[in-house]
Amino acid sequence: MNETERIIREHDQFVLQTYTRNPVAAVRGEGSWIWDAEGRKYLDFFPGWGVSGLGHCHPRVTAAVREQAGKLLHMPNNFYNELAGRLARIIIEKSFPGRVFFGNSGAEANEGAIKLARRFGEPEGRYEILTMKASFHGRTLTTVTATGQEKYHSGFGPLPPGFRYLPFNDIDALKAAVSEKTVAVMLELIQGEGGVHPAGDGYAAAVREICDGNNLLMIVDEVQTGMGRTGDYFAFQGYGVVPDLMTLAKALGGGMPIGALVVREKFAGYLPPGTHASTFGGSPVVCAAALAVFEAMEEEGIIENVREMGGYLRQRLEELAADFPPIREIRGRGLMLGLELDREGKPVVDRCLELGMIVNCTASNVLRVMPACNITREEIDRAVEILRRALGEEEI
Ligand SMILES: *Cc1c(COP(=O)(O)O)cnc(C)c1O
Repeated sequence: MNETERIIREHDQFVLQTYTRNPVAAVRGEGSWIWDAEGRKYLDFFPGWGVSGLGHCHPRVTAAVREQAGKLLHMPNNFYNELAGRLARIIIEKSFPGRVFFGNSGAEANEGAIKLARRFGEPEGRYEILTMKASFHGRTLTTVTATGQEKYHSGFGPLPPGFRYLPFNDIDALKAAVSEKTVAVMLELIQGEGGVHPAGDGYAAAVREICDGNNLLMIVDEVQTGMGRTGDYFAFQGYGVVPDLMTLAKALGGGMPIGALVVREKFAGYLPPGTHASTFGGSPVVCAAALAVFEAMEEEGIIENVREMGGYLRQRLEELAADFPPIREIRGRGLMLGLELDREGKPVVDRCLELGMIVNCTASNVLRVMPACNITREEIDRAVEILRRALGEEEI
């Protein structure tokens, strides 16, 4: 039995079997590359579902974590924490005037947004949140209910009330759905999990206008799209709208678990002392990591790289699509791209893994290509070469 088989055997015996896993046990990562327990190397074109937005073990992030780990790991949130204050300030400076609540995950950030919306609507008996079909907002009972995908709800009833699902990019459906019970609209501007579907021209602005006209909160889930992924710090900036609440997680911590709810100043009073909390939220080590992420983004020109490499990757994928008719469409922005196939994507993903590359398939037929935001031209060339081989061998 080799090391990988040993790791898999122990895992499969003692860890709850909630995931379908690839037979790879990663032991080390550096930039866009990981190494498994057998010493095999993989190009990671889907680093941690977007968590490792600066690649694995970015030196600034790793150094910040090491340094802070030797000073103070955790203090509860009924004390002040310099790093959390500094991080909140940077998030606000890069987004919109307001305040930040720190938690540990995307679901927790969204849960906070939903709780704030409920308190906002409570005096008038408004509580209903309109969300989109094919959205994804997390796996806690309430965020999974916000998620407009039946398959994630199955077997978990009764689900918390107060959510309604609308077709994404349908302005008339949104107008028609607003009632005296509605308090918020919650959406991703580019649906990730649902198949890399971007908001169309004018849709984000229309949502903003409908929210303004009906006193609704516009909640934008930037858990996947945030932190440079789309070629702006946050996707809303590319759509020319400002949300009332924004949620972040994934790439924010550069590999450390952090989530953030960002609230426009005028709504910041809806969660007064005692109404919401998170024991681990914003702890010094994760804040140090996130501060290092912002520092790297500024000093290493990450957003510029996303714009440039996003354009290059798209062009290379379009060349690929010209040779492989089963690629129906290429969608997305920046380094968040989806290749829709006319067939299941899993065989392609499996073949890529055998060829030494990690990529994802979502919505069963959409290859999700989301490399680190500091990816290089050479790495993109390598990835396209592997994809070409995998697609060819699958006789697509
Ligand atoms: C991943 C994701 C979440 C959930 O984040 P967790 O950290 O897994 O709880 C929520 N919303 C979007 C858009 C996501 O991509």
